Amino acid sequence: MRHHVVILGGSYAGIAAMRRLAKNPKLNITLIDQHPYHFLQTEGYELISSNTSFDETIVSLPALCANYDNVTFRHRKVLSVALNRNVIILNDREEPYDTLVIALGSVTKRFECDANVYNYSSGAKSLRGALKLNQFFQDELYKRLESDKKAKENFNIIVGGAGLSGVEIAAGMQHFFNRYYRSNALSCATLHIHLIASRKTVLNGMHQGIIKSATKRLKNLRVQVHTQCRIASIHAHETLLTNGTKIPFDFMIFAGGTTTAPCLKTLDIEQTPRGQFIVDEYLHAIGHKNIYIVGDTAALKDKKGHPLPPTAQTAIQSGKLAATNIIRSLQNLQLKKADLKMKGIAIALGGKYAAIDLQYIRFYGYTAYLIKKLIERLYKWPLWWLASKGYRKLKTCPI
Ligand SMILES: Cc1cc2nc3c(=O)[nH]c(=O)nc-3n(C[C@H](O)[C@H](O)[C@H](O)COP(=O)(O)OP(=O)(O)OC[C@H]3O[C@@H](n4cnc5c(N)ncnc54)[C@H](O)[C@@H]3O)c2cc1C
Repeated sequence: MRHHVVILGGSYAGIAAMRRLAKNPKLNITLIDQHPYHFLQTEGYELISSNTSFDETIVSLPALCANYDNVTFRHRKVLSVALNRNVIILNDREEPYDTLVIALGSVTKRFECDANVYNYSSGAKSLRGALKLNQFFQDELYKRLESDKKAKENFNIIVGGAGLSGVEIAAGMQHFFNRYYRSNALSCATLHIHLIASRKTVLNGMHQGIIKSATKRLKNLRVQVHTQCRIASIHAHETLLTNGTKIPFDFMIFAGGTTTAPCLKTLDIEQTPRGQFIVDEYLHAIGHKNIYIVGDTAALKDKKGHPLPPTAQTAIQSGKLAATNIIRSLQNLQLKKADLKMKGIAIALGGKYAAIDLQYIRFYGYTAYLIKKLIERLYKWPLWWLASKGYRKLKTCPI
């Protein structure tokens, strides 16, 4: 019997692991995801601000997996992992594994105090969430186009969290509004985006040049940035910040942090206080040599032991390394130690404007935008090419 590797999560980390493992014909691989597509979160800002259609931000998982004779894709929701029996509990069956790769990413952390907030809020980590945001804004613009009275009413959007995703969303949305204002003579002067940053600046921890460029761009776009404060409470369409400011709001976007996928909450493996799973230098779950944890689910570190931020690039590197180590362990070879690196960071800042930090050199504006687009395409196009090849092998439409 072939060694059975089960990969939970078909996104950056899970796909990277799957593609490397699939090259080994001695392995039987099952990739499980709750969606039949890989959502390109790194392009979510384009979808939210109507610069792209949703089919441009996904890769079909059944079609991608159909390229490999030793890979099975299961479109299922993982309910839990039974560590004592080496099985995954799915909604309709149990999936046994010899080796497990957990690549379930993370979910948007929400504010718990007002149950109603879920009706007028969204996160941007899922295709559904990004679409909800986009449709909501399109609808609001339409109402303003229809009615002069409505166009004069204040409309406040709060983006909670001024890290990479919060800044990209705030800049993208504001640019979207401003563009409508210019092209349709539609007054968006009463539409306000409030970006809440808990630290002294947006993009805390990044290079000063990047912070300066992003701050200037946000100001030029008219985003209202509130620094050194957090959301203290939310009640009936009003937010109270820790500095005492009250902001009435119509819609809220959570971008202030993430937490573990709910199905892993009760998993008896050591976690950090933020809910990421601790891994050893080979990316094993602590105490489990047949379980690898990769991507946002793991508390990844660089070679010096410094924590790495959750990004697609470290997710891909960790997925590849887990696959290499699974193959090496079956060949009784010495496992490879993790040497994960942040090679740079690219931030979209609304329209054709971005900032890129490649550590030794930084780019701003249109050049940075073009580089970001190139990076996105170099990731997406090979997957699309594989998916289109796989699609031809499938008899029925995968999605
Ligand atoms: C707006 C935004 C912009 C970003 N921009 C950048 C950027 O420019 N560069 C960068 O490097 N990073 C960026 N990131 C971060 C990056 O997207 C994440 O770090 C990356 O997606 C992590 O990949 P992953 O494979 O670990 O998990 P994820 O991409 O979160 O994927 C997890 C997968 O697991 C599946 N899953 C979860 N729970 C279940 C379940 N119970 N059952 C079955 N399947 C399940 C999900 O459907 C999903 O396919 C951005 C994030 C956001 C939100």
